[in-house]
Amino acid sequence: MGALSIGMVLVLSALTISLLLLSLQAQQRARQMRETANRLTTILETSLDAVVVFSATGRILAINSAAEQMFEFQRAEAIGGKMTDLLVPALHREKFLSTIRDYMLNGQSDIIGAGRISMTAMRKSRAIFPIEFSIDQIGGSDEPIFVTFIRDITERRATELTLVEARDKALAGERAKAEFLAVMSHEMRTPLNGLLGTLGLLQDTPLSDQQHAYISNMQASGKLLMHHVNDVLEISKLEAGKVAITNTPFSLHDMLEEIIQGQAPQAQANANTLNVHWVSQPVPYIVCDPVRLRQILLNLLSNALKFTKNGAVTLEIETFGKANSEEIEFRVIDTGIGIQEQYLEQIFGDFETVDGTYGRATQGTGLGLGISRRLTRAMGGEIGVESTVDVGSVF
Ligand code: ADP
Repeated sequence: MGALSIGMVLVLSALTISLLLLSLQAQQRARQMRETANRLTTILETSLDAVVVFSATGRILAINSAAEQMFEFQRAEAIGGKMTDLLVPALHREKFLSTIRDYMLNGQSDIIGAGRISMTAMRKSRAIFPIEFSIDQIGGSDEPIFVTFIRDITERRATELTLVEARDKALAGERAKAEFLAVMSHEMRTPLNGLLGTLGLLQDTPLSDQQHAYISNMQASGKLLMHHVNDVLEISKLEAGKVAITNTPFSLHDMLEEIIQGQAPQAQANANTLNVHWVSQPVPYIVCDPVRLRQILLNLLSNALKFTKNGAVTLEIETFGKANSEEIEFRVIDTGIGIQEQYLEQIFGDFETVDGTYGRATQGTGLGLGISRRLTRAMGGEIGVESTVDVGSVF
């Protein structure tokens, strides 16, 4: 009996101790859970995004303060209510319900766990506003619970809209300006043609030497004006994408000959030599737009001759690629005034000229290189420049 009693007392003591330990553990776990819950609440409350937790039946289980502010609901009003009645606008209700339904059936969705999605939501006042949200399932519990983070993007949308409007206005302004330039330059050409034609006729009538000289001056000025007007018209057309590029096989040799002959007087006027030099084997024919190629080469050559005195201008040609036929490079090289490095990119812009001694003396609209660059690009090519002041340039 004695031994049994002692045994019983021991067993009871052991049980009491283990019960005490268990209760201590339970208390500790409860404290940990409270702490975790507190931490979670703090995280959710400090979130700038609205957080809404809801069940698989679409009942709201919890919302944070940001959600209260965003949706204009008191927490007590929202909790227990249906997502589809309170937060989801009529337009998206069916989609919301089917998404949850499908997810519960297949565990898959293009929305749940799919990252950031743009949509609209509804405030208590029934006002609809744009949001960005992400949604995911909280694992661990028996019944699935969903959590969604929602961001009100009303202001961002408004800013975007203002920016788009400003851009559209600027573009419309640009278009109007381009249209104006195109119309004006076109309208100026007709009377100018009339003037130049009549001057030509006048030249053939009996005139004194002095009158002849005056008319020659007027003709020279008229032609220059026509050249400028044509440049402006060309830019407008290129900007409007109205210039069609053709691909024709033609004799490069004939074209170069003709260009060099045409430029000879200009070369002489500044005491320059003008030569063509093939670096690779000359190719007799090439395929591209002959009119545009001539226009580009003429512009580069006349610039080179304009900005060089008592020097040399060379047109170097080299072919590259398979059987020397894939790419062709034209280099217009001069020993003229050169261009300072900071202007090298700028001169390809419209109406850009570099202030220089010859520059001011020579006339130009500053459109030539802009046109050349557009034309080169339209033909799938590239144009660039290297230059050293007082040594010369290579275009
Ligand atoms: P424009 O010749 O009508 O002024 P461009 O667009 O053809 O217009 O040339 C722009 C500017 O680039 C010229 O005004 C000149 O300052 C500079 N430039 C062009 N080619 C040369 C060159 N070969 N040597 C020196 N400067 C040049």
